[in-house]
Amino acid sequence: MAVATSTGVSFELTDDQKEYRTLAHDFAEGEIRPVAAEADQQSKLPIEVLRKGWDTGLMNLHVPEQYGGAGLGSLDGVLVMEELAWGCSGIATSMEANGLGAAPVIIAGTEAQKEKYLGMLTEDFKFSAFGLTEPGAGSDVSGIQTTATLSEDGTHYVINGSKTFITNAEIADWITIFAMTDKSAGHRGLTAFIMDVKKPDGSPADGFTCEGHMDKLGQRASPTNAIAFMDMKIPVENRLGEEGEGFKIAMKTLDATRPGVGGMATGVARAALEYAMAYAVERVQFGMPIAMNQGVNFLIADMATNIEAARLLTWQGAWLHDQGKRATLQSSHAKRFAADSCMSATTDAVQIFGGYGYTKEYPVEKLMRDAKIFQIYEGTSQIQRLVIAKELMMPRG
Ligand SMILES: Cc1cc2nc3c(=O)[nH]c(=O)nc-3n(C[C@H](O)[C@H](O)[C@H](O)COP(=O)(O)OP(=O)(O)OC[C@H]3O[C@@H](n4cnc5c(N)ncnc54)[C@H](O)[C@@H]3O)c2cc1C
Repeated sequence: MAVATSTGVSFELTDDQKEYRTLAHDFAEGEIRPVAAEADQQSKLPIEVLRKGWDTGLMNLHVPEQYGGAGLGSLDGVLVMEELAWGCSGIATSMEANGLGAAPVIIAGTEAQKEKYLGMLTEDFKFSAFGLTEPGAGSDVSGIQTTATLSEDGTHYVINGSKTFITNAEIADWITIFAMTDKSAGHRGLTAFIMDVKKPDGSPADGFTCEGHMDKLGQRASPTNAIAFMDMKIPVENRLGEEGEGFKIAMKTLDATRPGVGGMATGVARAALEYAMAYAVERVQFGMPIAMNQGVNFLIADMATNIEAARLLTWQGAWLHDQGKRATLQSSHAKRFAADSCMSATTDAVQIFGGYGYTKEYPVEKLMRDAKIFQIYEGTSQIQRLVIAKELMMPRG
């Protein structure tokens, strides 16, 4: 992470951070970019690339070393995610979705839960996912309808309900899910569980169904699925924290993971800027490169400034998190600003490419489609603004 000095904060990265960033960049350039367009067209996750990423130590970034992970801090992870998303943000999302599934276990798991479920991800090439959103409950998780009912003998919970838009559900071995143990209590009735969704032979667990890969606008390489639970049994030892602590665990998870989304959005915006600059100096109209026009220059300059600002906000959110400080406000600033400026940078990149930018012959239309999701998942840009306003005017202390 950035080095704290007696006079404040240095933006100089450590040698380890520079090395990790180079490792991620080389992986993105050598392994991710060559397959990105095809994975997008076919809407298919190139699992062999993730396997190489797992072998290289570019997955399970925040799983502590004692459970076999890379044990990276939040800022270290953001550096990696910017580079991977510069390669392809769909592939990067699926590569790092274990982080979202595992964060509740890192935050609230018992030693036994951590050993078993984090160990599963690091000892073998396995996946987890994060199951919060439901068809009727997206931004407002107090509307969650999935129920968890404790059995009379107190040994297990019975889960009924469904979730939607769950990244990597179709390849996951276990999913952190959030269900109501007390529906009358709204979000205070939410409880988190670790759900094993596969039997040892790889077939779906009893009572669990996963629908096929959703056909999406962008990040098409990343599988997104609807899942359902019918009288699924979860042993009581798979509950995360106490009953009613699910909302707190989910919010802490998102505080921790939102800077990573900011990092990915920064990586996509940077890719758009690089393509736009290269094109602007080559494309000749009116007898000169279009880059000579101030109208084009200003687009480039604004993209570059917003990328710098998004990166610094992202680093700030991550750094605060690494200091063990409350980072809700800064994580929302980072995620909101990086997402919105990525959308604008990729749209401007298409503009600079003119008609060619609107075709699949050039990579910028994919970046524009991919960018849109940053304004939606892990809390929409509107929800980030709500969080920011609430933190400013009604802080939790
Ligand atoms: C590709 C993809 C991957 C995803 N991965 C996951 C995952 O792994 N796990 C998971 O749990 N979820 C995941 N999600 C779900 C995602 O987090 C939700 O889509 C998101 O939180 C928004 O919920 P919603 O789609 O129901 O929209 P809604 O909540 O219905 O919102 C619709 C619109 O209304 C706006 N709105 C809603 N309430 C307010 C308000 N109070 N003030 C102002 N505006 C408001 C929203 O900003 C949005 O523009 C994923 C979604 C996608 C598309």
